[in-house]
Amino acid sequence: MMSDFAVVGSGIGGSAIAALLSAKGYDVVLFEKESYLGGCSSSFQRGDYTYNTGATTLAGYEEGHIVKEVFDTLGIVPNLIETDPSIVVLHGDKTTPRYRDFERFFDTLDANYPHAKNRAFWELIHKINDEFYRFDGHYYANANLFAKTKSLFSFAPLFWKFKKYLLANAQTFIEDFFGTLEQKYRQFLESQVLIVAQAPLREINFFTAALALAYTFNKNYYVMGGFSTLFDTLVSGVKNVRRCSEIRSITRHENHFELFTKTQIHSAKKVILNSTVYDSGKLFHDGDVLGYYKKHEKLDNHQSSFMLYMTIKSEKSFHHHYQIIHDAPFPHTLSQALFVSFSDKEDIQIAPKGHYSITASIHTDSRFWEDKEGYKARKKELEDILRKVIMVHLDIKEEEIVQCFGATSRTFNRYIKRAQLGGNAMTFKNFLPFLPGNDTPIKNLYNVGDSVYAAQGWPGVMLGVKNLQRLLDA
Ligand SMILES: Cc1cc2nc3c(=O)[nH]c(=O)nc-3n(C[C@H](O)[C@H](O)[C@H](O)COP(=O)(O)OP(=O)(O)OC[C@H]3O[C@@H](n4cnc5c(N)ncnc54)[C@H](O)[C@@H]3O)c2cc1C
Repeated sequence: MMSDFAVVGSGIGGSAIAALLSAKGYDVVLFEKESYLGGCSSSFQRGDYTYNTGATTLAGYEEGHIVKEVFDTLGIVPNLIETDPSIVVLHGDKTTPRYRDFERFFDTLDANYPHAKNRAFWELIHKINDEFYRFDGHYYANANLFAKTKSLFSFAPLFWKFKKYLLANAQTFIEDFFGTLEQKYRQFLESQVLIVAQAPLREINFFTAALALAYTFNKNYYVMGGFSTLFDTLVSGVKNVRRCSEIRSITRHENHFELFTKTQIHSAKKVILNSTVYDSGKLFHDGDVLGYYKKHEKLDNHQSSFMLYMTIKSEKSFHHHYQIIHDAPFPHTLSQALFVSFSDKEDIQIAPKGHYSITASIHTDSRFWEDKEGYKARKKELEDILRKVIMVHLDIKEEEIVQCFGATSRTFNRYIKRAQLGGNAMTFKNFLPFLPGNDTPIKNLYNVGDSVYAAQGWPGVMLGVKNLQRLLDA
């Protein structure tokens, strides 16, 4: 039996497009290698405890924003708690809660990092963010040069509106804007931008930096029960979800594809790959497809994450998210900032009463973890450092720690078949028109996820899902 669509991978992109196509009446089969859904945005069990794998914040779930639009289309109301402040930044002796309310945030920011231009700068950030979300109607096609050129015209209103910021290097723009900038303030801005843009200020335009700095002015949510529960709801209308089913290879025929798991062959008219654009080529032996994916391998920046997962037993109260900024980068990482997320005190589905599940992440390079020699020692060294940093900054005692373990890019590769994390960083090199698209020059073969249009995270991947749906409808 041949399905209309085979979707390979149940990350945000794969699950959302499978759900939308199923809702339209298509016969869809969703293949996921693991037993749980969600990829980088999943949750998993270790012993008696549950952890969010990577993503811990749901952004874009508000009126006029893409994530809510997709959930509303599917008639899904997720179980969420609004999180405000979205993050509390701990930086030496400074604590800056990033409240959604401008004045509430600004007061502390200005006290911690005083500068005469502060109000003008943060009002500009707020304004760019506000205006961006009013734009609609743009799409990105990549099947051939004509389709691509035509689609690029749909960005013209957005380009004209934000031209000044799109063409300006973020680091230069910020330096020119402020004149002199204290080192600590620079570190604060750099660390905040990295969370969303996945790249340093020197590599991105100011428009991307502004949207990254502004994410806390939008609504952000904590997902009750862990992120995988959200995916179980998201794909509830997909009749054929095959967990523990890794697609090992795909062959292309005149009018269909054959997808091979370890024990089965499945035929589909169209294939949507949620594996990364850097890894998808490994599934094919066919010259044209291999050539297409080979072209994109050079975009792989090898950026990845080192994770520390902890369960603690504590009576204290914690915010949902912290960023701890140090003066120098941590060893075997690319960053001096550690992102630490706590489960909600009331969320007894993810951690037993009186316990917290903690997911901490820091940017690293996947190549730091390739060499088997010394791997365990490097991992242990970083685990110990991060554990101590969390204990000191968040006042956690050794005896409160119930479980603690780390994960590297190799761990991610073993479970969800990707070592690069964070997808396409929005750098000048990776911006439109160089960004890989959701459609491909190969008939009936499509991509979705954070390594292709539009970007990483819930809002970025969902914009790609909406784009793909539009291309499939055309
Ligand atoms: C540490 C970390 C923290 C983050 N925090 C946030 C956050 O707080 N908020 C936010 O919005 N974003 C966050 N992000 C980014 C966000 O998680 C990702 O951009 C997003 O989840 C990627 O979705 P995706 O659609 O690309 O799929 P992926 O997450 O890449 O999932 C792909 C899925 O495909 C499966 N797969 C791959 N190959 C095959 C195959 N051959 N056969 C079957 N299955 C296959 C994998 O097992 C996986 O489940 C974070 C990312 C990381 C790494």
